[in-house]
Amino acid sequence: MPEKKNERIINAQQKLIQYYMNERRLLHTALNWSRTSGCDPNVMIYSPSLIKLPLKIKSIDDITIKALICQLSEKFYLSGWQPGTGGGLSILTGTGSKDSPFRLYTSPSGVQKEDMIGNDIFVLDMKMNLISSTHPHGLSISSMTSLWYIVYKYRPKVRCVIHVHSINSVLASLLDEKSNKMRLTHLEMIKGVNNYSFNDILEIPIIRNQVSEDKLGPDFERVIQQFPKSNIILVRRHGVYVWGNSWEHAKTQLESVDYLFECAIKMKDLGICYSTMPHLPYNNDFIKSNFF
Ligand code: ZN
Repeated sequence: MPEKKNERIINAQQKLIQYYMNERRLLHTALNWSRTSGCDPNVMIYSPSLIKLPLKIKSIDDITIKALICQLSEKFYLSGWQPGTGGGLSILTGTGSKDSPFRLYTSPSGVQKEDMIGNDIFVLDMKMNLISSTHPHGLSISSMTSLWYIVYKYRPKVRCVIHVHSINSVLASLLDEKSNKMRLTHLEMIKGVNNYSFNDILEIPIIRNQVSEDKLGPDFERVIQQFPKSNIILVRRHGVYVWGNSWEHAKTQLESVDYLFECAIKMKDLGICYSTMPHLPYNNDFIKSNFF
């Protein structure tokens, strides 16, 4: 009997190894906003299990995107970035043609991010009309929905916007309460944001918070035009919005920028400057008292 048990364990281990060797953990589709861009509609879609399902993309499209939003939301919840139903996520699909109209998928209001299901996701057209057949029963649309449209309007290549209430983003917005922007430079992870290099200065606009998310609209619209290179907006004492040309792009930038926020918070605590060249001391008194 113990031999059979060992055999089962070995088999399970081998399956696990095979899984980690061959399968990506996050869902993906062959749509033009995803890493598998350009695939034909008969391409194999790989499920997160060991089974490979030959599915027509058009038939799985809607389901996959909804499941992906649930999966990403759970991930951000587990990172501590979307607690207490806070934050949200939107994905835009389609090309805008008659055959492939734009469809905006968005997480609902007031649902625990680790417990969302595909049927909770709202699907809208570009005039913010619900696609009736997919209306989630008993749920309200998120108050941040109008903000997704602002990003998609001014950044036509963007296909995903993520909003989180991470502690790092809240604290980063308070490092200089008098400034309407945050500047970061000479930090490796700047490379994770758009096409910035180590020596570049990453400027992130900061807007003031409002009593509800939709009231952020005017300031949101203003800074998105004032900072054409920025893929990020910080909302003071609230959180951060990050977007990208695919969900992968948005997610990796969010991870990079949250890391940068944490660096900046800790650097300020140590008296090290995060916004100028490294040889310029942030706090002369700190340097004198600690190094001379
Ligand atoms: Zn928020």
